[in-house]
Amino acid sequence: MKKYSIGVDLGGTKILTALVDRSSGEVLYHVKKKTKKQKGSQNIIKKLIEGIEELFAESKIRKEEISSIGVGAAGQIDRENGIIIGAPNLDCFDLDIKTTLKNYFNLPVFVGNDVEIAAIGEQKFGAGKGCNDFVCIFVGTGVGSAIVKNGRIIYGATGTAGEIGHIIVDLNGRQCACGAHGCLEAYASRSAIETRIEGALKKGRKSAIQDYLEPGKFITSSMIQKSIEREDELVLQCVTEAAEYLSGGIASVINFVNPQLIILGGGLIEAVDYFYQKTIKKARAKSLPVPAAKIEFKKAALGDYSGVIGAAFLEERVL
Ligand SMILES: [Zn+2]
Repeated sequence: MKKYSIGVDLGGTKILTALVDRSSGEVLYHVKKKTKKQKGSQNIIKKLIEGIEELFAESKIRKEEISSIGVGAAGQIDRENGIIIGAPNLDCFDLDIKTTLKNYFNLPVFVGNDVEIAAIGEQKFGAGKGCNDFVCIFVGTGVGSAIVKNGRIIYGATGTAGEIGHIIVDLNGRQCACGAHGCLEAYASRSAIETRIEGALKKGRKSAIQDYLEPGKFITSSMIQKSIEREDELVLQCVTEAAEYLSGGIASVINFVNPQLIILGGGLIEAVDYFYQKTIKKARAKSLPVPAAKIEFKKAALGDYSGVIGAAFLEERVL
């Protein structure tokens, strides 16, 4: 077995590239680049190559010591052919990552999606270590999840299983970015909370969060946390409402999938403990009594690194 792999987490704002030790899961070196998606998909390929080349230069590692390059991108992926079919957050469509990187670096290349790589990372070295039966749920700009059963990720017929963000929680509800109405993501994501807060501020409500807002910048999870620490009424109300919806979605998952463990991660969970605690308490209360008595909750343990670590192990994935 070769000692190292390269993992790449290709997100809407940044591209994180890391050299990962395959036996310990440790990130030995990493390179961070801005995605600058407005410059088009060929620029994303260019940035991917630059990041990997910089990693080689910095770590002085030889290509012969690398087992594979794994890339996880926020979007729908053709895993077999290593193509990004569609990634609205990256403005990327029909982008052949696998052939391009394989030809350039002459190494095996594996491509997956962002939630999948984070779940693999948590499974191997994080909160899911030693557990073969769990659901990972990540709450940030959107709400994503991955289902692990018998140690393997469930992909579904079209590779899109685990789209918890688009389970319907309100039949006549808010419009979601996917086009449907009442999706969980429109109620329980950081962006959903942001929309609620902004709506209230426009109507003249006052909030501590106004002290942190900057024109043109979005409301971050840390601004939400700072406002909660100041017991701000509006922010508490919007976050409690989001936890109410998220816990409903999670209770449905508990009843439907009956996992042993739910791992919660993402910016909003990491930054706002109030949101995490409220969500898991309510999710247990809303689940059927038998699974509710057994279900375990944990916070994701690898933070920003879960994606690159998981991507480095995409080569072990069984489709
Ligand atoms: Zn939706």
